[in-house]
Amino acid sequence: MTTDNTRQIDDCIQLWGEILEIVKYDLGKRVYNTWFKQMQFIGFEDKVITVTVPSNFLRDFVSAKYSDYLLSVFNSHGFAAQSIRILTLDNNTPETTANSDIKPDTIIKFEEVKTSKNDNEQQEENDVNRNFRFNLNTISFLDKKLTFENFVVGRPNEFAYAAARRVAESDTPPFNPLFLYGGVGLGKTHLMHSIAWHIKETQPQKKVIYISAEKFMYLFIRALRVKDAMSFKELFRNVDVLMVDDVQFIGGKDTTQEEFFHTFNDLVDNNRQIIISADKSPSELEGVEARLKSRLGWGLVADIHPTTYELRLGILQEKVKKFKMKIPREVIDFLAVSITSNVRELEGALNRVVAHSTLVGREVSIEMVNEVLTDVLNANKKFITIDLIQRSVCEFYRVKLSDLNSSKRIKTLVTARQVAMYLSKELTTKSLPDIGRSFGGRDHSTVLYATKKVKDQMEVNQEFKSDVEILKKALEG
Ligand code: ADP
Ligand code: MG
Repeated sequence: MTTDNTRQIDDCIQLWGEILEIVKYDLGKRVYNTWFKQMQFIGFEDKVITVTVPSNFLRDFVSAKYSDYLLSVFNSHGFAAQSIRILTLDNNTPETTANSDIKPDTIIKFEEVKTSKNDNEQQEENDVNRNFRFNLNTISFLDKKLTFENFVVGRPNEFAYAAARRVAESDTPPFNPLFLYGGVGLGKTHLMHSIAWHIKETQPQKKVIYISAEKFMYLFIRALRVKDAMSFKELFRNVDVLMVDDVQFIGGKDTTQEEFFHTFNDLVDNNRQIIISADKSPSELEGVEARLKSRLGWGLVADIHPTTYELRLGILQEKVKKFKMKIPREVIDFLAVSITSNVRELEGALNRVVAHSTLVGREVSIEMVNEVLTDVLNANKKFITIDLIQRSVCEFYRVKLSDLNSSKRIKTLVTARQVAMYLSKELTTKSLPDIGRSFGGRDHSTVLYATKKVKDQMEVNQEFKSDVEILKKALEG
């Protein structure tokens, strides 16, 4: 048996104690005493966790009622198990430890609970197996789809991307910490996973831990509860690269912050790379101690801005490549214009459209998208007012707002006025008379004429058409 294997078993046994603690905590002492107290951990092999209980009755009850739960506790603590096997162990069998053999005749029956796994989880599993020797319960999994190759770079994220790449490619920390921040769904986690994958690939000797701040907190509190803060400290102070995601969650959690602060300082002092993400800049983090805030801002602070139309388009074009289905360009465009909240929602919308089309065999069109995504589209609607339209149009054609609503008839002014009327009709729910009133008290027939004129012009004049479309997109996005 290799040292590593021995280590794994030691880890498992230690972990088993912790898992029992969690079960006790989750389900209460009474349930624990009745069903779990006599359970023993046998081993973890080929993705199967084996435990024993002393009677068939216990086995049947626990399998029926708690096997899913148990599997989830194991898996949330670093096992990447597919099933759990509950065996009945003959009472005469000597006390079982992880490395003792179970005699086949003591196995009366086993129950297996299978959970299905996708590629991603499979990858995570490999990952955890590779990292097993650090400590089973601390690894948060890396999503294999989240790599630099799959990250679409645009204005809003190019700085954060460049900083992330720099950190991933450097031998020693180019800046410490790297602090990535930005709104939800804009790619912070994606960049962190990308860094981890890149380092694993190019500098496999490095120990990399990616963990959410929530999990960090949870592990720390649990370590305190089982009076094992030492191994917790050791684990985190032994890494080359530590990434803590969504650090805003430690706001207000004083003991965790304290521990985090010390871990942080130790690692920085030892020239280990730290990468942090949050939804706000260091100074804006709420409930975080001043000294920690200031420490977090010492390295490079890189923010990810909300998406632009170009970036959304780029991301969609990238994502549709993985579908076999053909999606019309105008639909992609429509999605990029309408779903402006964040990339996660954009991706989700595209997936829904594709799934819907596959399931019911319907061709993807704007009309279909409108039906399938009513909720998302509504949630993403900006409140467009006539005033907003007028201002934007004036900016675009470089005319004055007061002139727009006057009776002047200079050519540019007329064009701008008509375009603004047309957009007001298209983008708001206002009636023709309402619109007329907002343009210096004009008649509804003037508005009607203007919209018709703009439509006709768009048919024959490409440049004009593209101007109107740009304006429309800008207003909507
Ligand atoms: P955050 O952590 O900032 O909330 P995530 O990194 O989880 O956001 O990103 C949300 C989703 O959007 C993920 O599926 C991610 O792959 C995707 N995503 C975000 N930004 C990009 C990008 N620039 N290119 C490709 N996919 C992206
Ligand atoms: Mg995230």
